[in-house]
Amino acid sequence: MSSTIRVTVWNEFRHELSDPEVKAHYPDGIHETVAGFLDPLPGVETRTATLDEPEHGLTEEVLDATDVLVWWGHLAHDEVEDRIVDRLQQRVLEGMGLICLHSAHLSRIFRRLMGTGCNLRWREADERERVWVMEPGHPIAEGLGEYFEVQESEMYGERFDIPSPDTLVFVSWYQGGEVFRSGCCFHRGKGKIFYFSPGHETYGIYHQPEIQLVIGNAVRWAAPAGSAVPTFGNRVPLEELPTG
Ligand code: ZN
Repeated sequence: MSSTIRVTVWNEFRHELSDPEVKAHYPDGIHETVAGFLDPLPGVETRTATLDEPEHGLTEEVLDATDVLVWWGHLAHDEVEDRIVDRLQQRVLEGMGLICLHSAHLSRIFRRLMGTGCNLRWREADERERVWVMEPGHPIAEGLGEYFEVQESEMYGERFDIPSPDTLVFVSWYQGGEVFRSGCCFHRGKGKIFYFSPGHETYGIYHQPEIQLVIGNAVRWAAPAGSAVPTFGNRVPLEELPTG
């Protein structure tokens, strides 16, 4: 592991090409917006990758140079190839951090790592979301108040069909009455996974300072710890054992 956190921001990059409203918020794609606010952070360097690149831009070489992968997908989850999902799962188990944003709850890699359906209730009604900090001592909440608000958000509501998070950092309330576990930490193997729900493509949510702060904090939290890779299987004893 290097002292620099090498981040790859992945986006399926489909809405932005076909929907003028999305393009207005994210003219170069959500991936460029996210990479654009992460890259200036001290000790962080970014690259981007998109679905239509060979191997979805996630070759072994790219992943060798990725400490944390940020994922945004919505329309094209099913177009992500099995062999790439297998590869990403293996990388996470070996220690690569993964941050799944918004509609990535139904991405193949997130569902694979969770082992559940990962579905939820939703509504697109420009309503207010109040994101409450559950764990003020958690590094992902650093710099936030007791809560922050997203003025126009897509409602994501419980039940959210995930395993219980290892740490629940945020819970959101929506104007329409639902609540949602909007910031969830998981460990799988050596890897750390953070799911963060705000970020619908027709809202400029990724331009909001609190959202950028959370994703930047999450990148630092999810970076590999630099500890030894566990080994498995039959072993000779570390101490001499009594014979007979
Ligand atoms: Zn959405």
